[in-house]
Amino acid sequence: MLKQNRCNLILGILLLYCCNLSAETTSFVNKSEKDQVREIVRHVLESNAEFVDKLPKDYFKDLIHGQSPIATLVTCADSRLHTHALDVHPDGDIFMVRNIGNQVSTAEGSIEYGVRHLHTPILFIIGHSSCGAVEAAMSKPSNLEPSIWRELETIKVVGNEVDSHTEVKKSVESNVNHQVTLALKKYSKEIDAGNLTVFGGVYDFRNDYGRGNGRLVIINVNGKTNPIEIEKMQLYSFN
Ligand SMILES: [Zn+2]
Repeated sequence: MLKQNRCNLILGILLLYCCNLSAETTSFVNKSEKDQVREIVRHVLESNAEFVDKLPKDYFKDLIHGQSPIATLVTCADSRLHTHALDVHPDGDIFMVRNIGNQVSTAEGSIEYGVRHLHTPILFIIGHSSCGAVEAAMSKPSNLEPSIWRELETIKVVGNEVDSHTEVKKSVESNVNHQVTLALKKYSKEIDAGNLTVFGGVYDFRNDYGRGNGRLVIINVNGKTNPIEIEKMQLYSFN
């Protein structure tokens, strides 16, 4: 696994390629950083090659001409939460929308495309343990850029004690529930017609819920947060 602090380097090198900058412009990258960049790009290309090499013949046949995903899924951009944790074969299944704090309003158009144009019957909104965006919304650090502040505006938290795991967990849940509420308002027509169900959940890699590290815990279905009420809906089972 690559070190977390290399993520910025991946973004950096991709931006450099995308912007078609000259070799002179990239000279600020010292040798050590270049070595890291080479290692990261090699990792990505080798991972891609490994993926491609394992594909059965005609794997893309049904995907080339369009998509019919089974769910729109809004998650945090956090590197600890990835599609393979929620769908082991996500290609063609998941219309994935990611942003800091798994928010509805900061990705309104993308989510609307999944719900109203791709007609996914489910909208998942999935937060996660130890979410940095939620913690930032709690602690309000002064060193954040305006663009990041704007993306924290619709994160709803409880309290400001980021050292308290309980308070962070409650804030992660509060934010998921708030995002579900926003989605229920926007997509009430689809929900009332029985064409859309909105699920809120937490990807619990910290094992805050005691069900094992990495479990997805459903905490909200169409605005219902009481586990007994959710169970009565008989929409899913742990068994
Ligand atoms: Zn997060």
